[in-house]
Amino acid sequence: MSASLRGLMQDDFPLTLHHIRRRMRACSPDAQVVSVVEPGTVERASHAQLLERIDRLARALRSLGVEQGDRVGTFAWNTQHHLELYFAIPCIGSVLHTLNVRLFEDQLTYIVNHAGDKLIFVDDSLVPTLEPLARKLPGVSHYIVMGDGDAGDLPNALRYEQLLRDAGPGEFEYPELDERQAAALCYTSGTTGNPKGVLYSHRSISLHSTGTLISDGLGLSRGDRVLAVVPMFHANAWGLPHGAALAGADLILPNRFLAAEALAGLIASERPTLMGCVPTIFADLLRYADAHPEVDLSSLTKATCGGSAVPKALMQDFEARHRVRVFQAWGMTETSPVATFSRPRERKHDDGYWDDRAKQGQPLPWVELRLVDDAGAEVPWDGESTGEIEVRGPWIAARYFKDESSEEKFDAGWLRTGDIAAVDERGFVQITDRAKDVIKSGGEWISSVELENEVMSHPDVIEAAVIAKPDERWAERPLCCVVVRDGASTTTADIIEHLRDRVAKWWLPDEFAFMAEIPKTSVGKFDKKVLRTSLSEGTLEGRTPVS
Ligand code: AMP
Repeated sequence: MSASLRGLMQDDFPLTLHHIRRRMRACSPDAQVVSVVEPGTVERASHAQLLERIDRLARALRSLGVEQGDRVGTFAWNTQHHLELYFAIPCIGSVLHTLNVRLFEDQLTYIVNHAGDKLIFVDDSLVPTLEPLARKLPGVSHYIVMGDGDAGDLPNALRYEQLLRDAGPGEFEYPELDERQAAALCYTSGTTGNPKGVLYSHRSISLHSTGTLISDGLGLSRGDRVLAVVPMFHANAWGLPHGAALAGADLILPNRFLAAEALAGLIASERPTLMGCVPTIFADLLRYADAHPEVDLSSLTKATCGGSAVPKALMQDFEARHRVRVFQAWGMTETSPVATFSRPRERKHDDGYWDDRAKQGQPLPWVELRLVDDAGAEVPWDGESTGEIEVRGPWIAARYFKDESSEEKFDAGWLRTGDIAAVDERGFVQITDRAKDVIKSGGEWISSVELENEVMSHPDVIEAAVIAKPDERWAERPLCCVVVRDGASTTTADIIEHLRDRVAKWWLPDEFAFMAEIPKTSVGKFDKKVLRTSLSEGTLEGRTPVS
């Protein structure tokens, strides 16, 4: 047998955020970062200016005793300050830990202490939220307040701008880094047990950022203006800040102003080409755009939606009525997050094309995916058979941070996602459910996602969430929670009529509950856990449709 022959390439060149930093200086010094201060008021900085501040921040972090491997928390919205932290912390070899500002006190306390955060950088607008926790966070030596607002009673509070001024000008001498070193940490808001930390490496972020530039995916390029609405505390804002920096694209950061009116104003004035956020925000924006046809959102030719299934009607309506193109991505915190993207080959916009657009799409290059059934056997890619998605690849988590209890999530090099899907012969993934949300009726599965999409295609329905209701005969039957447009007099019979040709008869919901709003999770998804709890406590009651 002959010996293998080693390639003679620079395989040791480290894939670290230093490259992105150097590239911003060399190739896109004039690219812009636009950060909203108040609706209608923005601050602008070029990449060159941003890098100068990142150098100062790196020096300031060192002067506060932050060393390689230390975790540094951020409690912040999407702003230029947060972006500076995104680079300065990992580039000195420390770990950026983005804290979800919408979590409950207990979860936040657990997460900060579990991560061992040494400092926390906090937006002044969020000081009142963080203040009550501070006495439960013994490991945090300082709180650094960003903005001029009150620091409240935060112990050892310092001012961000003062630190940067004191740090002085000039290039910082960054340490050389190993590409496998940890760069960022983000906890998933686990559905059971404690939150789990996903610890990204320089290598995984570098490769995932490169993945955001692939034109069959998000397709970020230097001509883009990228509006990152998805919070920077949620899976690195889907890689948009890193991807925009690598591409040399402009980045627009909306701060905490995420209501439809504020976003529409920002889009109309800043003309982003690409925007990333969850379906609930896109749905709000569509309603706003319908009511205010004078607001021009048509610069958005590459919007990306994900986080939950994106209703086909939402994409079609946006495109037909406002020339906004919304594409679907799928992923999770553990997958950095973008793993699949649906950008079918452009062809006549027939039903087949739109069916593909409504799927979660094909795996990005370097992401491998398989479907596995309950017995652990692989499920064929025939577009019909369903199984749990397992993924592997260089930006997929191999395990959680300091957690021995979740071994079952990792299957010999594959991540078990908990998402149930079918995959067709061309590798297009269609999620049918979260494993825990699927409705098991008489031994057969009803896809809550598909049912919700069909209900939401009714013109009067704004939101729909389907949960399983225990049933003596069938084990479980679908109960559909619905929100209808203001003033609509839609009845359960109208919705059933609408569904009749769209889903199998036995899928038709047995009960409907009309409500003012579907409860949402901290990242804006329908919170079915809350609905299930209300159902079991008897505070959620459905009505049987009258025909
Ligand atoms: P998170 O880690 O909070 O980002 O949540 C990840 C989960 O969101 C996934 O496991 C899916 O259940 C869900 N998800 C994300 N994107 C989509 C999508 N396009 N369609 C359906 N579910 C999605």
